[in-house]
Amino acid sequence: MVIFKKFRDYQKFVFEKKTKEDSIGFVPTMGALHNGHLSLILECKKIASITVASIFVNPKQFNNKDDYDKYPNTIEQDIALLENSGCDVLLLPNNDEVYPPFFKDDFEINLGKLEIIFEGEFRPGHFKGVYQAVNRLLNVVKPNFLVMGSKDFQQCLVIKELLKQTKSEIKLVMAPTKRENSGLAMSSRNLRLLQNEQLLASNIYEVLSTIKKEINEVPLSTLLEYGRKKLSDSGFIIDYLNIANAKDLSEIDTYDTSIPSVILVAATLNGVRLIDNLQL
Ligand code: AMP
Repeated sequence: MVIFKKFRDYQKFVFEKKTKEDSIGFVPTMGALHNGHLSLILECKKIASITVASIFVNPKQFNNKDDYDKYPNTIEQDIALLENSGCDVLLLPNNDEVYPPFFKDDFEINLGKLEIIFEGEFRPGHFKGVYQAVNRLLNVVKPNFLVMGSKDFQQCLVIKELLKQTKSEIKLVMAPTKRENSGLAMSSRNLRLLQNEQLLASNIYEVLSTIKKEINEVPLSTLLEYGRKKLSDSGFIIDYLNIANAKDLSEIDTYDTSIPSVILVAATLNGVRLIDNLQL
């Protein structure tokens, strides 16, 4: 695996190495890698001949400075994991490389309601920070494929909008969520949970799976009420547990099998905020 801190060195490498037959797949991350991230690398290797990962903890997408300051840094381990997964290139830019003095952050797209519902409501400005950084990275990496986790479902929809509104030809691939045996979605934040809290956190998946299993038999409001109670009884403070249209996250009152839908949840256990979803 080759590591580049400077974008121009990466671009020189691609210019010299990439043939007409090659395709580039890109997996952007913020590091503190786990098997969820590595599953994206494996997915990427299936579809592209050159797999590029990036590790950049993007300050613009944190609404909370403390959260940013405390973001875990396990860079030595991350490099070893990426190397073992067969990643070809790692980009490790610093802040100045991603946001140089000449960088203008007036690039905007219109996210419509996506910007203010679900994660958008609870993390104002977050998605703008995400799409600005991803846009900057895409302009440098110039991939054919962009591989992202459907664990961050709304983020995938935001990036889909970015690609559409910038008339990009990059194909977004949404990879499935990798889970612990308990069903808990893998996340860098799980490290901050004690063992008994990890067990309680697996109730998120239990709630999602039960709703999915029962949705054709039991009224939606009853299922959501059951889910919210189960999570609060487990000690969670719930930001949202709801079902939405999977295309644009617009509200759904009554489940309709003909509309692709998704159950979305965000809840905090002992100061650790977790998100998850399940497509129906
Ligand atoms: P992050 O480092 O949290 O910004 O995540 C980098 C990428 O990994 C994003 O596309 C995430 O959606 C994806 N990701 C995070 N957790 C998982 C997981 N458990 N399974 C699959 N992909 C994941």
